[in-house]
Amino acid sequence: MVNCLVAELNDLTIVQAHEKLVKKEFSALELTKSFLDRIFDLDKKIFSFLTTSPDLALSQAKKIDDWILENRKIPLLAGIPLAIKDIILVEGVKCTAASKILENYIAPYDATAVRRLKEMGAVILGKTNMDEFAMGSSTENSAFGLTHNPHDLDYVPGGSSGGSAAALASNFCVASLGSDTGGSIRQPASFCGVVGLKPTYGAVSRYGLISMASSLDQIGPITKTVEDAKIIFDVISGKDPLDSTSVDSPKLQATSYPPKARLAKDGKLQSIKIGIPKEYFKQGIDPKVEKIIKDSIKKFENFGMSVEEISLPHTEYALAAYYIIMPSEVSANLARYDGIKYGFSKKKVENLLNVYRESRGEGFGEEVRRRIMLGTYSLSAGYYEAYYLRAQKVRTLIYEDFKNAFKKVDIILTPVSPTPAFKIGEKITDPLMMYFSDIFTTAVNLAGLPAISFPVGKVGNLPVGLQVIAKPFEEDKIFEIGQIFEKMTNI
Ligand code: GLN
Repeated sequence: MVNCLVAELNDLTIVQAHEKLVKKEFSALELTKSFLDRIFDLDKKIFSFLTTSPDLALSQAKKIDDWILENRKIPLLAGIPLAIKDIILVEGVKCTAASKILENYIAPYDATAVRRLKEMGAVILGKTNMDEFAMGSSTENSAFGLTHNPHDLDYVPGGSSGGSAAALASNFCVASLGSDTGGSIRQPASFCGVVGLKPTYGAVSRYGLISMASSLDQIGPITKTVEDAKIIFDVISGKDPLDSTSVDSPKLQATSYPPKARLAKDGKLQSIKIGIPKEYFKQGIDPKVEKIIKDSIKKFENFGMSVEEISLPHTEYALAAYYIIMPSEVSANLARYDGIKYGFSKKKVENLLNVYRESRGEGFGEEVRRRIMLGTYSLSAGYYEAYYLRAQKVRTLIYEDFKNAFKKVDIILTPVSPTPAFKIGEKITDPLMMYFSDIFTTAVNLAGLPAISFPVGKVGNLPVGLQVIAKPFEEDKIFEIGQIFEKMTNI
């Protein structure tokens, strides 16, 4: 029975797969096996997975089939096969952060986001490739090999959650988790033509997420539809006693599922005011991307929403502030990998200092070492005021820009990235050029805001995403606007 269904099986959204599981059109075991087979057959070309966990996946699927046989009402995520970025811990499964220094590290417990997904019956297929410790925009910084963009194998899938986005775009899973410190969910989602949500800082627990830059990191869903992103977000979000920066979001608890689109009977849309920041359309953006973004904004306007130009005056300093604050936090967070406590340890070294030096020198890749050095420098006595402290002041100004803008508008629309996916090898030798691909995403992390990327067009066969930014804890508005776009364009 399953064989004739395989193509469709791998194509389903969470909502569709759930309906079919409940109707017993296939079992959770059949669904899981079809994904594992597909990964086994086709991932050689994409290299989106670093590890698969078939035993874990099949035993969870079996459990869900028992629930279905007992005619229990199953949660939306029960029996749904997911992929997890290899920086988020899944108990008993290798977690490398795509680094040689954690090559043999087995996660001793589940990240809270993973635990919550498992409790809802989700099936974990495995762990996806990424830039080492989430540092990068192309997944070329993985210590274990690069991931290809499924839309064109010569192109990068974006990064750092490139494996999670490419796995989904290849139909190797129904949805995945990524992490976003400066754009790492939204940019690969944009490059791979899928939906990626970076939640409000604190909305999702970071417990069990290997830290890159703790004041910026958030876990979020990568999905085929905005509706699916909401389903995962609802499960993984909320206060967790194990992460003191996590909080509950009262507004979200009040929203209904699926969120009511504000469509009046005449098809017009009411009361969402959209702001377009003029600074995001200055130089540097590919004209073809700009046209796609402007056309999609026009669609909202034609649909009856009010669109006005706004200003976020400190936008031009966001990337510079990010590339001071982020490496400063990286240098502190990565101090723990010393060749002693855990991870790779250089053997036959004559003294302790050299154990540190050689383990870190060999265990970390070039980009990670570069950022540790940059961060250590900007935190050091004599430079702290000039760099770190100044960048923090800029961060406050960026936050204030958004706060002022949100007095006038409900949501902000921008491009996700100045270009579509670029060629493998094109930017890897020029770190500054690579950093420039984060120009439209980092301000959101600095300000702690929620933002999504969803596909709105293509340049040739390469997808382009639109970024929707909202006030803190107003993910509901983001879901609403995204679902409206999907309805408008019949995605
Ligand atoms: N590309 C950005 C960087 O390299 C963002 C990374 C991320 O969000 N993890 O820092």
